[in-house]
Amino acid sequence: MSGALMEAGWHFSSLCNSGMKPFSFLVLCLAFLAGAKGNDEQGDHITCDPNVRIIGGTLKKSNGNAVDSVLRFECPDSYYPFPVSSGRCWKSGHWFRSVYRRVTPICKVFRCPPPVLEDGMFSPLNISYSIGETVTFECYDGYELQGSVSRTCMKNGRWNGTTTTCDSGSQYCPHPGIPAGGRKSGLSYFIGDKVDYACNGGLVLVGSSRRECLESKEWTGSETSCQHRSSFDSPEDVAASFTASFTNMLGMTHTGDGKAPATTARKITLTKDTPLHIYILLDASESFGEENFEKAKNITKNLIDKIASFDVWPKFAIISYASEPVVIANLNNEEESSAADALDLLCDSDNAKYTTHGDKTGTNTHAALNKVLEMMVLSKIRFKDSWDKTRFVTILFTDGKSNMGGDPKVAVMKIKNFVKAEHNSEDYLDMYSFGVSTDVEKSELSTLSSHKPGETHWFTVQNTTELVKAFDKILDYSQIGDLCGVGEERPDATIREKYPWYAILEIPGAGKCSGSIVSPGWVMTAAHCLREVQTAESINRIMVTVGQKPKIFRVKDVHPHPQYDLAKMLPENIYQFYDYDVALLELTEQINFAKTGSRSICLPCTRETTRAIRKPFPGTSCKDHVLEMLPKSGTVPADFVKRDGRTEEVAYVTIKTADGVKEACEANALQAAEYKNVTDVRKVVTERFLCTGGQEDVSCKGDSGGALFINKKRRFVQVGVVSWGVINVCDAVKPDKQHARDFHINLFTVVPWLKKKLTHITFIN
Ligand code: MG
Repeated sequence: MSGALMEAGWHFSSLCNSGMKPFSFLVLCLAFLAGAKGNDEQGDHITCDPNVRIIGGTLKKSNGNAVDSVLRFECPDSYYPFPVSSGRCWKSGHWFRSVYRRVTPICKVFRCPPPVLEDGMFSPLNISYSIGETVTFECYDGYELQGSVSRTCMKNGRWNGTTTTCDSGSQYCPHPGIPAGGRKSGLSYFIGDKVDYACNGGLVLVGSSRRECLESKEWTGSETSCQHRSSFDSPEDVAASFTASFTNMLGMTHTGDGKAPATTARKITLTKDTPLHIYILLDASESFGEENFEKAKNITKNLIDKIASFDVWPKFAIISYASEPVVIANLNNEEESSAADALDLLCDSDNAKYTTHGDKTGTNTHAALNKVLEMMVLSKIRFKDSWDKTRFVTILFTDGKSNMGGDPKVAVMKIKNFVKAEHNSEDYLDMYSFGVSTDVEKSELSTLSSHKPGETHWFTVQNTTELVKAFDKILDYSQIGDLCGVGEERPDATIREKYPWYAILEIPGAGKCSGSIVSPGWVMTAAHCLREVQTAESINRIMVTVGQKPKIFRVKDVHPHPQYDLAKMLPENIYQFYDYDVALLELTEQINFAKTGSRSICLPCTRETTRAIRKPFPGTSCKDHVLEMLPKSGTVPADFVKRDGRTEEVAYVTIKTADGVKEACEANALQAAEYKNVTDVRKVVTERFLCTGGQEDVSCKGDSGGALFINKKRRFVQVGVVSWGVINVCDAVKPDKQHARDFHINLFTVVPWLKKKLTHITFIN
């Protein structure tokens, strides 16, 4: 349990305001253990074998050895529990049905079933294949090979790549393929022709068991596969398929580097303004278990937060269920359906607790789906103006073991039919299911999901840790359009992936400076970096390098702030005066964000930033931005990219904003060698500056001109331009960190100038 606890804390604690998530989870776990004890004492004295075991694996029990306790076996990677993966303590005092009672369960290693190929051959030929074995395919003359030329058996007992077919091109639809370990009936592929699939013994059919050749030359339904009952999707599979389907639905085009999964994208494209209704269902029944429920909840929080950061404004419904559904967030209630409100409810409301469901032995998926349908019907009235454009998503976390209330398939059909009747197309509905735990009822999971050509809508993952990993990759930021201030969040991302607006400037006479992309044609930097740039010839020689695959851009014109004047204070013997030390570079060509893997940073007091920080537009002022981003509360965490030789890293600093703290920071300016004769710090530190430094990271020479930025709601907003520092700690042998301070031009103080120069960006007042 401690591992799960750490994971919950590590990934998600920031999403609930109080930060008490790990604590309340601990309380729940303790209550859970206490409950187990109590039941043993007051039970009717029937208990199951406490020594039940699995050879080569581990097990978990939901309630000790008491009646109704659920038992789950877990095996190491590459293995699966055989012949049973779970049990329940029945009133008879047995964990398993009679057929399984005589054998001790064992963890067996996965093997892949044999591929099947018509009109071609493959080698080697075996009855089954061990992990790591590779099969190579070839088609007979006159047939063209589609899909993978060779496939390798993976550790989940499935083949990598895609189903191989040999197609003669003589039929109307292409060869529909035969899954490994399966068989197909039907040899004619003309319009209206159908093929049927079945799987060999011991394998479960997932996908469509019957497919029909359409006029569009596509087969109905989704690709069929035959899987081991206990095999899992790898996190990579889940992420790739879910992202393909889901980002497609959000209307985001694949602008990545070809890493997009090999699934066909649907043709309907959304705009950012298309209404989106997302229904999330959480199984809270005993077979799914509290640990999985809590993790699914945390994954949901993370997902809601991520979707909200995409600048789409979906409405959410969240429902948990065991014997009865319980509404956590109602889509038709204005106070519950926004991302922020749904998150709050998941964090704080009593309905979001596992204990809300008294009788957990029932799993009434049917009733939960009916609740969804009920909300959909009501939402038609509530949102009648945007109804005909609205798209629907359901995301279900379950083990697929419904046991009461009727066949969930019927409820799924009702939902599909409702959307289809309203929109005349199933394209407006996507139903995803995520099966967690070792023991998922795959056939049910499949019926609870959409079946669309070339897309995958249901997934089984070994445990929620794997699902967390998958969701970390889902909604990959590299695949969305041109939103400002979005950075890659993977822990192993490079600095340029995390901060894709970062630019390196090579400037005649100044050497290297830093900059930030503020729009495809504009880069911001410090004015003092341009001190030697006086002629068109020297402007031509400026080089701006951006992107993960670095590309150099040239500069058409430079625009230092008109009030910047390094020599202004010379009469007072101040030789360097950095007030208004900010400049814009106009590039000769627009940066292609998709191609270079770069992106602009958000600027304060713009419409786009208002949306990025999830404030109402209109209705939010520039002053609101100041209060949000630079509150006078003390110190505001901020970052800038720091370069040391060829390595780039992020500097973590704090902007001193509170009265007293700010002045104390600024006072250190007079420690600078250049200012040792200055008596009034106000003479050099004007109200244009933000102060950072002290016992934290400080900038070095080449960092000048870079963005000082803050992270708000998973988006980054530039609040300052790195201008000058008191001490060059990078060159110093024994840096005096106590007095090392950095000064940055506060962008809020130059908004009128930005507005005048960047006319293509919408600023707010
Ligand atoms: Mg259940």
